[in-house]
Amino acid sequence: VARNPGEAEFHQAVREVFDSLGPVLAKHPHYADAGIIKRLTEPERQIIFRVPWIDDRNQVQVNRGFRVEFNSALGPYKGGLRFHPSVYLGVVKFLGFEQIFKNALTGLPIGGGKGGSDFDPKGRSDHEIMRFCQSFMTELYRHIGEYTDVPAGDIGVGGREIGYLFGQYKRITNRYESGVLTGKGLAWGGSQVRTEATGYGAVFFVRDMLAAVDDKLDGKTVVVSGSGNVAIYAIEKIEQLGGRVVACSDSSGYIVDEAGIDLELLKEIKNVQRGRIGDYADARPSARLVTTGSLWNVPTDIAIPCATQNELNGADATQLVKNGVRIVAEGANMPCTPEAVRIFGEAGVRFAPGKAANAGGVATSALEMQQNASRDSWTFGYTEDRLSEIMTSIHDHCLHTAEEYGAPGNYVMGANIAGFTQVADAMLALGLI
Ligand code: NDP
Repeated sequence: VARNPGEAEFHQAVREVFDSLGPVLAKHPHYADAGIIKRLTEPERQIIFRVPWIDDRNQVQVNRGFRVEFNSALGPYKGGLRFHPSVYLGVVKFLGFEQIFKNALTGLPIGGGKGGSDFDPKGRSDHEIMRFCQSFMTELYRHIGEYTDVPAGDIGVGGREIGYLFGQYKRITNRYESGVLTGKGLAWGGSQVRTEATGYGAVFFVRDMLAAVDDKLDGKTVVVSGSGNVAIYAIEKIEQLGGRVVACSDSSGYIVDEAGIDLELLKEIKNVQRGRIGDYADARPSARLVTTGSLWNVPTDIAIPCATQNELNGADATQLVKNGVRIVAEGANMPCTPEAVRIFGEAGVRFAPGKAANAGGVATSALEMQQNASRDSWTFGYTEDRLSEIMTSIHDHCLHTAEEYGAPGNYVMGANIAGFTQVADAMLALGLI
């Protein structure tokens, strides 16, 4: 804490991982002897830069850009870019730290990193977004590359932004280096299923959690927070597997639709019109908009928070438990506060941490890198099957590891220990670097 003052989210993420490591350090003291813990919490490289751009009123704007290259023991740094006014070093470091273990869990050769800017895309014109992305890449390009660091999207960075970023990278470097970014469009080096992957992957994980107790999604009620990339495709897969999503949200409020979310309408409003969640309630008689109180008051069997960090607190967790929730899976990164996680644990609610449940996005990004490297493109069905297999393998790995270390059914312990040992072993093998 003294070494990284004021970085509350980073401290929270580190504590969450290290709280799980007691049994592994007791069994394998050589990790501590080799300074793995100290080395893991210090990023290999942190880049902070100025992003100047001109808005539509010809005014100069200046934002701050970040890229934290956290750990490359397993492969090139890999992790998304977030454009949101709340972005500062503490948020980027928490996300980058989580990414190290998440990427290890996928079993694919990718290290951990994260980046972004305090730029707020909300209300900005398409031209402003393009000028911002071009300026951002004009600095970032010198730090990234197919074998070095491969960014992708996150909050506020979707296909449109990746397009502008890739265009500028290509222009500056004069290289059509497809493997430098993931989340690209299908016509220019992207992978099938990448757009859907995080949401689909989280639901595959829930499917496997249910299967582990001889249950299934069919007929279950689900509440999903957010209505962005992760939330929309989580809703799609839940509906395909027979679940009914009765509520979702954005930062202006939430909607309850007991008839089940009309996904085509939600996509039209969010992806095409770039509208607000209230527009959904205006267009659908069975839905109502709620702008006060918490989304987590809505009774549900399964909760999948897919918006942002610390969006589900202790009071929300208590209410969910009171309403009979059985499974909580984090589609977003660290959406549940430590108190909420503790309450779920005490109540016997099965809880999947984001580094396991939302790893499908980065896993499919690694599949995109594989396709780029071999100049190949796979079908939707083949890619989705690979995603599904990867999620099952992560699920089983977490469950077995938890059992091995004396905490059966504890996905938090399982994910943290499994991710940690994989990275720590590689760091040991590579020496003091
Ligand atoms: P999007 O920008 O597509 O969507 C984010 C959604 O969350 C929007 O509905 C947004 O509402 C809402 N939201 C964001 N910030 C807040 C806030 N402070 N309060 C309330 N609502 C908020 O992002 P993604 O769907 O890509 O990402 C969502 C989460 O999933 C993040 O935690 C991200 O790190 C994580 N994640 C994403 C992956 C991906 O592949 N995209 C991969 C793994 C994890 P509004 O529009 O009103 O701001």
